[in-house]
Amino acid sequence: MVFGFGKGKQETKAAAPAPAPAPAPAAAKPVAPGVASAAPSSIPRGIMSGQMQDWKLTVDKVIEHAHFNHGNREIVTRSVEGPIVRSTYSDLYFRARKCSNALLADGVQKGDRIATLAWNTARHIETWYGTMCIGAVLHTLNPRLFPEQIAWIINHAEDTHVFYDITFQPIVEAIKDKVPSVKHWIVLTDAAHKPQSSIPNLRTYEEYIGGQSTDVVWGDFPEDTACGLCYTSGTTGDPKGVLYSHRSNILHTMIGLQKDAIGIGAADTTLPVVPMFHANAWGLAFSGPATGSKLVLPGAKMDGESIYELLENEKVTFTAAVPTVWLMLLQYLESTGKKLPHLTRVVIGGSAVPERILRAFEENYQVEVVHAWGMTEMSPLGSLGSMTEGVLAQDHETIIKYKLKQGRAPFGVEMKTINDEGVLLPRDGKTAGRLVVRGPAVAKGYFKNAGGNILDDEGFFDTGDVANLDEFGYMQITDRAKDVIKSGGEWISSIDIENFAVGHPAVACAAAIGLPHPKWDERPLLIIELKPGQTASRDDLLNYLNGKIAKWWMPDDVVFTDKIPLGATGKINKLALRATFKDHKLPTIQAAE
Ligand code: ADP
Repeated sequence: MVFGFGKGKQETKAAAPAPAPAPAPAAAKPVAPGVASAAPSSIPRGIMSGQMQDWKLTVDKVIEHAHFNHGNREIVTRSVEGPIVRSTYSDLYFRARKCSNALLADGVQKGDRIATLAWNTARHIETWYGTMCIGAVLHTLNPRLFPEQIAWIINHAEDTHVFYDITFQPIVEAIKDKVPSVKHWIVLTDAAHKPQSSIPNLRTYEEYIGGQSTDVVWGDFPEDTACGLCYTSGTTGDPKGVLYSHRSNILHTMIGLQKDAIGIGAADTTLPVVPMFHANAWGLAFSGPATGSKLVLPGAKMDGESIYELLENEKVTFTAAVPTVWLMLLQYLESTGKKLPHLTRVVIGGSAVPERILRAFEENYQVEVVHAWGMTEMSPLGSLGSMTEGVLAQDHETIIKYKLKQGRAPFGVEMKTINDEGVLLPRDGKTAGRLVVRGPAVAKGYFKNAGGNILDDEGFFDTGDVANLDEFGYMQITDRAKDVIKSGGEWISSIDIENFAVGHPAVACAAAIGLPHPKWDERPLLIIELKPGQTASRDDLLNYLNGKIAKWWMPDDVVFTDKIPLGATGKINKLALRATFKDHKLPTIQAAE
């Protein structure tokens, strides 16, 4: 018994000789509570430090925890070479240590940037921890960008190493002579799959870590040391680097592990479909090992059938991805009649969850949907649509309405909405304004100070999103500030129009953009991509929307396109659409003239 109330302790006391009676104290002047007594205290007044350990918040702790507590827990990878490969958290731990030693042997120092151009695989996570745990900075590159953009980002970050998957050999060939800082190319495969390349001294990952020892010092740096680097996709201006610290990643992991957030545990099997290069796989490469959840990594294949196979064969209970991935899965399930017996929860974010995806998961497959919002600058979790007691007490249709909102801030994220003058807006579920955020896992500036100061006087970061908050704390994005359609001095939410339009059975994807209008400033144009083999007319779409949205939100025109372009993180590329349709003449313009 360690608290001093145990039997043993009392017995010792009883056996001790009785203390001599204390001398009567001199009459002391009574002292009012809180007022210093005349007797000098040995305790200095003022802020007092707590006496708890300085346990540094560094990410080596995560992988050490996984090794010591969940060493045999599986990591299953659909390898880019093809087969399903199985390893464990202990394998990850030891191989990451070898990777650290290989990097040190190349002369890597703390703060050096090490890039990856890779899918979610065990080798990618090994590289990730191997780099971070020695104080170097793991820089995830998004392979969906154009090669010139990737080269620009590598040059900006001054990466010294690039670890890449064999699938990206063409990108590497296209950029290799344009990135002078890169001295080492390591292809994440073994000798049998080494691609042909003119790169001198190209090494395979297995060769790279093969002869290395597992003996290495990890975590010998302060907790605010830079740890990861991820560039935002740069829909406006040049891409900007978000530089995560060890401390911010650990706190973000803890934020994510709250029950109302990602909330996975040791009994879960987690499938991060969201790529590690897309805002850190929403933290799952940390929260998986931190909990001992089994990890299932999809490699390069994210089509409906491949994802279904992993969900079914590995008995996945929890997964996360952007809506486009789930559209593909749901189409596969609908066409095959297959079910999802193991999956209990899916987090969907990155762009708004269309109602039909939400209903399909919840009503047809009994899978709970958690709608999440976040951004690269927030590590990335910002809000999650877990239910409060009050909401759960409502009827099904009301609950669906709440689930379609972007969710509530978990502990560790502060958010509020303000108007253009910086005035705080009410939490009434209606008034939309600029969404600003603050927290220990929110950026305070960009790498190399690109963009200058990004915080307001109170330390809040403007997300660039337009949103409302309701009395229960649920946040609803109505637009990105730059996508909002400004009509007659009011704002029309392009997201709302799109969400309703994709409810039409013939529609595969919908995008609403504002086109200039002489009378109203801007009016909405609805752009539709139909499902293969389906037909619908302009009037069908307008009739379908009629009554679902406010009259003045109704698109002035509807056009059809073969393919709505998506950006590098799977979101509709509105910039490209605005360029394509900039000369489209709205039929209402003549009427107004
Ligand atoms: P980028 O800004 O480079 O596109 P991010 O992945 O960081 O990359 O994107 C963050 C943005 O994505 C948010 O600011 C928001 O506009 C949008 N977003 C993320 N999740 C949602 C969501 N659930 N609903 C609507 N928009 C979302």
